[in-house]
Amino acid sequence: MADTPFPPELLRDVQKRRTFAIISHPDAGKTTLTEKLLLFGGAIQLAGTVKARKSARHATSDWMEVEKQRGISVTSSVMQFEYQGNTINLLDTPGHEDFSEDTYRVLTAVDAAVMVIDAAKGVEAQTIKLLDVCRLRNTPIITFVNKMDREVREPFELLSEIEEVLKIQCAPVSWPIGMGKAFRGVYHLLNDAVLRFTSGEEKRSDAEVIKDINNPLLDELFPMEIKQVRDDVELLNDASPPFELDEFLAGRQSPVFFGSGINNFGVQEILQALIDWAPPPQPRDAGKRLVEPAEAPFSGFVFKIQANMDPKHRDRIAFFRICSGRYSSGMKVKHVRAGRDMKLANALTFMANERVLKDDGVAGDIIGIHNHGQLQIGDTLTEGEILGFKGIPYFSPEMFRAARLRDPLKSKQLQKGLQELGEEGAIQVFEQEGGQMLLGAVGQLQFEVVAQRLKDEYKVDAIFESADIHTARWLTFPDDLTRRNFEYEQALRLGKDVDGNMVYLATSRYNLAVTMEKWPKVGFHATREHG
Ligand code: GDP
Repeated sequence: MADTPFPPELLRDVQKRRTFAIISHPDAGKTTLTEKLLLFGGAIQLAGTVKARKSARHATSDWMEVEKQRGISVTSSVMQFEYQGNTINLLDTPGHEDFSEDTYRVLTAVDAAVMVIDAAKGVEAQTIKLLDVCRLRNTPIITFVNKMDREVREPFELLSEIEEVLKIQCAPVSWPIGMGKAFRGVYHLLNDAVLRFTSGEEKRSDAEVIKDINNPLLDELFPMEIKQVRDDVELLNDASPPFELDEFLAGRQSPVFFGSGINNFGVQEILQALIDWAPPPQPRDAGKRLVEPAEAPFSGFVFKIQANMDPKHRDRIAFFRICSGRYSSGMKVKHVRAGRDMKLANALTFMANERVLKDDGVAGDIIGIHNHGQLQIGDTLTEGEILGFKGIPYFSPEMFRAARLRDPLKSKQLQKGLQELGEEGAIQVFEQEGGQMLLGAVGQLQFEVVAQRLKDEYKVDAIFESADIHTARWLTFPDDLTRRNFEYEQALRLGKDVDGNMVYLATSRYNLAVTMEKWPKVGFHATREHG
C-alpha cells in the first residue's frame, strides 16, 4: 500500500500541517505564548482570552471547579489556525502538574514541540520530565527563552544549562541584546539582522529591523550594549554549532530564540520556525509496518479521553490523531482492538477556541470522537487494515491509595466505575489478590477528581486510604516457569492493571532493588505502552 503514489491533493494538504505542543514548567509563560501565537495566527483578536481561562483553571482545587472547566478544556485542547497558508494544530497540555500523565500522552500526538524556558530560572523540574517524554520519539524541539524583559541569567549560562541538563545541543538563532530594563532586542544570526524591542502587549506588525551586525546605526542606538553582542556573536560563530535542519529533525539539536512573550517579542520567529523547519506529519510505526501520512486510507489513534460535560450520559470524547488519509463525516472505520466496524459521524474538529462541525481533516489533524466507552487510549482506527499505532506510554504512578467502600454492597459499582475511569486514563487502577482495588496517580488532584466522579456518576461513596506502596513496575518473564515461581513467591506484592497486565507493587525503593536483584531474568518496567 505504501508503494502506491500518494493522492496529490492529500499530499499537498498533509505537507501543510504542523502539529505541535508547548512544553514548559508552570509559570514559564506557556499560556502567554499560546495566546500570542493565536493572536499572530489571526485565530483570536484580543489578548486575554486564553489567560482568562487559565486564571479560572488555577483557582481550581475542588472538583466542582474542575467540572466547570471541563467544557472549556475540551474546546481549548486543540487549537487550529492558519498561518501563511499552513494549517497549524496547537495541542494544549494541561498545565497543572497533577495531570502530567495526560500531558505525556498528548506529546505522542505531536510532530514537534516548543519548549519555553524562563530566562531567570533556567531549566526546571517539569521541563526535564517533559523533554524526556519528547525524547522517546525524538520529537524536534524549538526553544524559546522567555522573559528577557526581566533581570535574568546570562544567555551563555542558560544555553550550557540546557545542554547539560537536557542533553540537547543548542543552536542559537537569535541572541539577546541586553536584558531587563536594558533589553534592546535580538540579533538574528541567520539573517544577520537586529530586531529592535519595544514593549507593550498590543499586537504589532514586524518589529524594526536593522541589517548587518556592523551597521554603525547600531552603535548609535545601543552604545552600551552593542559591543557585548558583537563579542558574543564572534564567540558563538567560533564555539557554537550552526543550526542544522537534519540535526533538529532528529531531535538532537534545538534552535534557540530569545524573547518576551508578554511583549509579543520573538513570537513571530517561533511561528516562522514552525513553518520553515518543524516537520509536517511523519510516517508512524503501526506495528506491522510504517504508515505514510499521505496514504489514501484513513488511520490514526486515540491519545486522550475526556469525559464530556453531561456526566449523566457518560459521553466521552476521544481525541484522535489522524496518521494517514482523510477524515470525512459519516465514514465507516474499523475499530481494530474491538474487531468491529464503527461509523464516524459528527466528529469534532477544532478551530482555535471554538468547537465547530467540519467534515474534513487530514493526517496531522485531531478530531474528537463522541463515544460511550468503546474507545480507549491507544486504540487504532483504520479503513480495514489491522494496524496498531505504537508508543503511547503509561508511567508508573508516584502515589497510591487503596479504595474502600462505605457500603460493601456497592462493590460491583465500584469495580465498574474504577474500570471505566481507569480506561479513560483519569487514574491508574490495579487489582490486587483478594479483589482489593488500588489506585495510582501522578498527582493528588487525580484522587479528588476520581472520588467525586465515583459519587456523581456511579453513586459510589468510596474512601481512599493510604497504601503502603512506593512504586509499581510492569513485569515481563523469560518463560512460564519463572513466571509461576515469581507469582508464587511474590503473590502479596502483585496486581493487575485495567488491561490485565501484571505489576509488581514495591513497598520501597529498597524492596524493589532487592527483588530485582533476586530475580535478574524478570523484566521490571517503569513504563508500558497502551494497547
Ligand atoms: P504558564 O504557567 O507557563 O502558562 O505561564 P503564564 O503564561 O501564565 O505566565 C506566568 C507569568 O509570567 C504571568 O504572570 C505572565 O504575565 C508572566 N510572563 C509571561 N511571559 C512574560 C514575559 O515575557 N515577561 C515577563 N516579565 N513576564 C511574563
